[in-house]
Amino acid sequence: MQAKDARARALQNPSAFWAEQADQIDWFKKPTQILQENADGTHTWYADGELNSCFLALDRHVAAGKGDRIALIYDSPVTNTKKTYTYKALLDAVALFAGALKAQGVGKGDGVVIYMPMVPEAGIAMLACSRIGAVHSVVFGGFAAHELGVRIDDSKPKIVLSASCGIEFTKIIEYKPLVDSAIEQATHKPEKVIMLQRPEAKAEMIAGRDLDWYEIQQGVAPAACEPMTATDPLYIMYTSGTTGKPKGVLRDNGSYAVALNFALRNIYNMQEGDVWWGISDIGWVVGHSFIMYGPLMGGCTTVFYEGKPVRTPDAGALWRVIQEYGVNGIFCAPTAFRAIRKEDPEGELFRKYDVSSLKHIFVAGEKLDSPTYHWLREMSQKPVFDHWWQTETGWPVTAPLTGMGESDLRIGSTNRGVPGYNVQVLRPDGSLADADEMGSIVIKLPLPPGVAQTLWGDHQRYLSSYLQTFKGYYHTGDGGYIDKDGFVYIMGRTDDVINVSGHRLSTGEMEEVVATHPAVAECAVIAVSDEVKGQLPIGLILLKDGVTIEQDALEKELVALVRQKIGALACFQKALIVKRLPKTRSGKILRAILRKIAEGEDYAPPSTIDDLSILPEIGESLKAAGITKT
Ligand code: AMP
Repeated sequence: MQAKDARARALQNPSAFWAEQADQIDWFKKPTQILQENADGTHTWYADGELNSCFLALDRHVAAGKGDRIALIYDSPVTNTKKTYTYKALLDAVALFAGALKAQGVGKGDGVVIYMPMVPEAGIAMLACSRIGAVHSVVFGGFAAHELGVRIDDSKPKIVLSASCGIEFTKIIEYKPLVDSAIEQATHKPEKVIMLQRPEAKAEMIAGRDLDWYEIQQGVAPAACEPMTATDPLYIMYTSGTTGKPKGVLRDNGSYAVALNFALRNIYNMQEGDVWWGISDIGWVVGHSFIMYGPLMGGCTTVFYEGKPVRTPDAGALWRVIQEYGVNGIFCAPTAFRAIRKEDPEGELFRKYDVSSLKHIFVAGEKLDSPTYHWLREMSQKPVFDHWWQTETGWPVTAPLTGMGESDLRIGSTNRGVPGYNVQVLRPDGSLADADEMGSIVIKLPLPPGVAQTLWGDHQRYLSSYLQTFKGYYHTGDGGYIDKDGFVYIMGRTDDVINVSGHRLSTGEMEEVVATHPAVAECAVIAVSDEVKGQLPIGLILLKDGVTIEQDALEKELVALVRQKIGALACFQKALIVKRLPKTRSGKILRAILRKIAEGEDYAPPSTIDDLSILPEIGESLKAAGITKT
């Protein structure tokens, strides 16, 4: 199929197009209903289909005689460990762990929170859940106890799976105290905590609640695959919204499997037996779609890496792994390449390795700046494809279809809409923008398979966040434009979501944390651009009347507070006391203006501002603090 035809056919007749794509995967019961529109504007794909995501990832390959192929390569420079699992070995490990979960009373529809580092047991746990129909919710290991507690309260898991520690470069981070504190803070109390004891740290167990990962597997029978209806939930993946409460993006089984198969083959051009490396973490959507489910469902070898792009041990780490395993395709956030470039600008480490197995480099998660693009392109001599998607979509919205022979790109663009996504730009009044005109990036309904159609336990929030801003469209929250040839340019979020090292974070959430400090009357957290991390949050703080506290002391306390409540991944390192904050007459803080001032950009003060003199005053404070660069 030609890429052009695929786009046109998916647009003209989504049901026919996605019925054909559904034929590409193994169902227990093939769906006869392809696409239904619901009264609230959402859609349902493959309503009467039955399948099992773990079966697609493992059993079907073993049944087809491919059990000896390598399914997963664990490479952990932080522990000096390398280990491979064949499809058969991974299936055995998953079926046994699934049996152990069942023996602990976990069944279809039960929630399981997974708070683990990048160890194979974490991937095994995800697949074991999908095998028995339990709904997993992986929480990124960098989140602090409070954040874990919030997710426990929202997803109400029957059990929590964790490990004794994670390792950040050389630092051992003990997870158990965080798990204990999260459960203490949460109202919902999981029945059991199952701990993987790593040699680097020993978790203290609470009698009656905590169980050992391997002990619970002794003497249990391996579990079979539970038939799941296509619309049954596979997982919840929390992501930042504009408020403190994270959004529980709910993924189904059936439409996700169809979408992942389509993406793996047609976007990434990965065939059975190819080696694929999603350079991310299972705590993010990329880890779900393109470390675990996608590549395994597609019969590829997936690289499971517990390390960093730099300092484990050096900026040649990525190239070393690519050479060692003959990696054919990678997906990475631009921030990793910015970090590598900083340490290896001339590519001396790069040249030590042979990366000829690599077909291409895909990047996403945040803006790919053109200096990084050119550096990577020239050094690697590989096609570098920017593409764009979100936790909610679960797979790429705009991307080149390299599996259909497409290789065109435009620097600065995240490429054209993938078949099934009718990407458009709207003006604030809802009318269609012209080519090259900036506006809100939206996707005309119906959304293709794989995209979340609800939020866990809060369907109303799904409707209000995504479907109600522009009727008939999914609101992405990103601003940008489309050129006359259909290439999409993402300019950034139009809401208070920021992107730090490819991690999506809510400034609203940080503000809520900062505001709990007794000296803080009011605050605004805004993002400023950063060479390596893309964006960094800074807090502008208004003190309560009568409070005296030194700038440095307050900053230190706030940095510690955000670290403790949200986690180190927020990279909240700067808080500046200001005399006043610019507001509209109705009292809303003008964050967009603050952002512009901090970036040293020109700005037009809105007519709604209550006091214009605040702006130069803030400008001076930001300059004096070295935040404004120009
Ligand atoms: P997440 O849900 O964490 O994957 O974050 C999704 C958000 O990251 C999007 O809404 C965009 O704002 C941003 N994003 C993802 N990919 C890109 C990209 N290739 N270029 C620019 N921004 C991106």
